[in-house]
Amino acid sequence: MKTIAAESYGISTECHCYDDDSGYEWCGGCYEDDKREVLILIERWVNNYAPESWEGNVAIDAKGMGWQRVSGRAIVDMTDILPALRINGDYRLVVTLDGGELSAVRSSHDEPCGASFRITFTNEESNQ
Ligand SMILES: [Zn+2]
Repeated sequence: MKTIAAESYGISTECHCYDDDSGYEWCGGCYEDDKREVLILIERWVNNYAPESWEGNVAIDAKGMGWQRVSGRAIVDMTDILPALRINGDYRLVVTLDGGELSAVRSSHDEPCGASFRITFTNEESNQ
């Protein structure tokens, strides 16, 4: 049996173009570049694992959101996954595809331990 390694890509709202060694101080649009990698990963998940009867919505089950560490569930169109995981302020989001399972961890000032999200295919109606 062939094992496919888990793949992760991260998005950070803080610019990481700046390099202390070279003093290179020009942002190459790292947020958009990072986002592209994550969107390609999500697309790969859909292309390889979506059930035939799937109509395009996903369920996002969240744990540990905000300083109160609340849980929640959202149903959104697959193109709204990243907007649904966004918060006001700086954060870092790491999206992982592992054996057909798509998940994400978000770290921010209020979420030092990280908020975790499991993303699954659903035919439930969007509730956003
Ligand atoms: Zn940058």
